Amino acid sequence: MKPKILISACLVGENVKYDGGNNALHVKILEQWKEEGVLVPLCPEVLGGLSVPRLPCEVLARTHTVINRRGEDVSVAFAKGACESLHIAKEAGVCMAILKARSPSCGKDVIYDGTFTHTHVNDSGITCKLLQENGIMVFSEEELVLAEAFWKQKG
Ligand code: SF4
Repeated sequence: MKPKILISACLVGENVKYDGGNNALHVKILEQWKEEGVLVPLCPEVLGGLSVPRLPCEVLARTHTVINRRGEDVSVAFAKGACESLHIAKEAGVCMAILKARSPSCGKDVIYDGTFTHTHVNDSGITCKLLQENGIMVFSEEELVLAEAFWKQKG
């Protein structure tokens, strides 16, 4: 099976963000990958059963519980979304992922600390971690040059 690239759906223009918008990236390499049919877009939070729009969520730094801005525990939905994402990735033959930076699901290496005060912490989102633990190389959308180099190596 031809290898595939999992990508946060909001990065390819799908309106799945908590506020109903997207984070569409208009860059040549994504257009090329889209034309080649190698992109597998998904949104872990929607897969976990959360609605669009929804309240913004953050991972509590100490406990890794995920809460929304009202303080409600949404960890189960985030865990479900991560498992569904991994399942889809495996089925599709994904070898790498390009995920939205700083999201509590998709963020890689840097996310918000659960205080809803725009404070960063060195950690990754729930789905990002699960994909990495299962051998899928993850890049943020701010690392597209590295992602492209990795993809060329694979090809
Ligand atoms: Fe985008 Fe990931 Fe947030 Fe979904 S969970 S809106 S794909 S960053």
